[in-house]
This record gives sequence, structure tokens and C-alpha cells, in this order.
Amino acid sequence: MESSKHLNSPTHELFRQVVEAAPNAMVMADRDGRIVLVNAQAEKMFGYLRDDLVGHSVDMLVPERFRSAHPQYRRMFYGNLSSRPMGTGRDLFALRKDGSEVLVEIGLNPVTTSEEVFVLAAIVDITERKRAEQELIRRTEELARSNHDLEQFAYVASHDLQEPLRAVAGPLQLLQRRYHGQLDARADEFIAHAVDGATRMQKLIEDLLAYSRVGRSGATQELASCTTALDQALKSLSVVLQESHAQINRDALPVVMGIPTQLALLFQNLIGNAIKFRRLDQPVRIDIGARRERDEWIVSVKDNGIGIEPQYFERIFMIFQRLHSRAEYPGTGIGLALCKRIVEQHGGRIWVESGPDGGSTFFFTLNAKLDGSART
Ligand code: ADP
Repeated sequence: MESSKHLNSPTHELFRQVVEAAPNAMVMADRDGRIVLVNAQAEKMFGYLRDDLVGHSVDMLVPERFRSAHPQYRRMFYGNLSSRPMGTGRDLFALRKDGSEVLVEIGLNPVTTSEEVFVLAAIVDITERKRAEQELIRRTEELARSNHDLEQFAYVASHDLQEPLRAVAGPLQLLQRRYHGQLDARADEFIAHAVDGATRMQKLIEDLLAYSRVGRSGATQELASCTTALDQALKSLSVVLQESHAQINRDALPVVMGIPTQLALLFQNLIGNAIKFRRLDQPVRIDIGARRERDEWIVSVKDNGIGIEPQYFERIFMIFQRLHSRAEYPGTGIGLALCKRIVEQHGGRIWVESGPDGGSTFFFTLNAKLDGSART
């Protein structure tokens, strides 16, 4: 190993060995930028032999276009000696013997002997890391774009499908009403099937539209009373509430930053499910509560219905995922996905618990800070 005249003592020999053993390329230069020491990794990275480097200016490792600025940077380093990364905030390139460039990260460390201060540069090739970073950014952007496209598609498709579907469902219903019993029994059966299919499709499209509207409403958050949202939900559900003789118990609910129509829709879906998935052997009872934990409210909707097995706790929040056939319980499998979307739009989480004694409790969180500052 070559060395300068300053690096000949046993201590320096030890130092050289340490540098040699380093996993990074290391290049040490003196105040004038003359290379005094390099290790094997540096030879490998730059494609030079040690003798081609030692005694020459470090500028040979700096691409031509950056060379003129280099002495100035060196002076700055010597003016304020400390260990630090080189060129924070800008991409650094190093020049190989073959003229190719390599993207690097460089740590600069002052090394002081009795006679002189050197600068030891530890150099890491970050080409691969940069490429992976760039790839991640590209993929994230692509994903966001395709998500957006998909949402746009779901919205336009469900919106535009409503019109022709109405043109099918309307006359079919008329046909059923006016001509029932006037054709033969098979005809009545066929018409009933067609009406049923069209009605189901209408419900599906309505739900899908509601789902895609949540992400694109553009509504800004305002002070929203959960009590009012719950009142509205109960009003929308008044017919089923009466039919099922459901008993509703409710705590005082908080005022939060939110979108009132979406909060009402959230309660409506959870309470609607609590009634739909009721047990037939006992009266329906639904408890709606709220408790504060640090910066968030935890709102709960508890029922005494058929319950949910733990292995389905995650799946039920996915769109179109249902645990029952339509013959058992009607539905489109969109309700809880919609709830999840609404809660996440509000920066919260939603989950379910269901014990062996039956019933399910749905929990969701809402930001308790009224300036909306804890939103994600
Ligand atoms: P849908 O009600 O249209 O089936 P949801 O997304 O609202 O769709 O619910 C998904 C599934 O989660 C339901 O099919 C049902 O199996 C289960 N589920 C939801 N709410 C309850 C509840 N309160 N009690 C028992 N099961 C429920």
C-alpha cells in the first residue's frame, strides 16, 4: 500500500489496516486535495490501481462539470472541520477510470495527525438504491392513477347505468302491475323474475354510486353533530325500525369535524345491518355509545343479532364480500365497505368485535380535535 510521507508510524499502519478493512470505498486526501490513501474497495469502485490514485488530485474522481467547484467545497470543509455527509441535498457523481459515472453518497471525516489534517471520504455506490427509490415513486404514482381511473370508471358506469336500467325496470313493473293474472302462470313467473333482477340491479348500482361518491364528493369537513347524524339515520330507517320493534339505546354523542351526510350514512348502514342480521328468537336491541380516548372518540354500535365469526372480521369490510346468500339475507355486500371508506375519509378506523354470547359490536374512531389537526 502506498502512503504519503506523513503516514509511516505504527499507529498510521494500524489506521491504514482499518481503512483497508472497511466495506466501503475510502479515499483520504490532504489539504491540497492530493490523495494519500485508498483502500481496495476504492480501487474496485473507480477501476484504478492504487498507484494510479495515490499522489494525484482527488479531482480525477470528480466529473469534469463539477471539478471547478470542488476546491471551494474543500476549503469550506477545512474551514469548519466536522464529520458530515458531502453535498447534502444534491446528487453526487463520481468518475470512474473508464469515463462512466456512478451515483454516490459520501461521508467526510477529518483525520488529524500531529502535522496535518486530512479528509477521509467514505464513498457508497447508491445507484441501485436510487433506482429502487425511483421505481417505488413510479409505482406509487401509477397505483394512485389507476385507483383514480378505477374510481372514475365505477362512478361513471354506475351513474350512466341508472338511466337505461330505469327504462327496463319501469315498464317491467308496469307490466307486472297491469297484466298480472291476464297472461298465463309461466308469464307471471318470468315477469316476476325480471322485476326482481332489475330491482336488485338498481339497488346494486345505487350502493355502488354511494360508495364511489364518498371519495369524490369534494365536501369539506365542518362541525358535525353525531347526534344529528344518528337522528337522520334513524329517520331513514323508520320503516324497518317499526317493523322489527327495535329498541334503540343511545348515549350522548360528540360533535366532530366531519361531513354530516356521510356520518348519517355510516350510522344508517351499521344500524340497518344490526336490524337485518337480527336473531328471530328475541327482540332487537341496539346500543349506540361513545367514549373519548385521548385525541379520538370511539363510537360503538352494538347489537344482539346473529354475530360474526372472528375469521370474517376483516373480510366483511371488503366490497362485495358477504357471509350469507341473498335468499337468507338480502344485500349487495357494499354497506360495510362504504362505512370503512367514510371512516377512513375522516381519518379514523373501523373494526368489529363479536363474542361467543352472540351479537356484534362495530367500533369506529373519529378525530376529537375540532380543528381537524389530527386528521391523517
Ligand atoms: P350486506 O349487508 O349487503 O351483506 P355489508 O357490507 O353491510 O353487506 O355486510 C357484509 C357482511 O357482514 C354481511 O353479509 C353479514 O354477513 C356481515 N354483517 C354485517 N353486519 C352484521 C351484523 N350487525 N351482524 C352480523 N353480521 C353482520
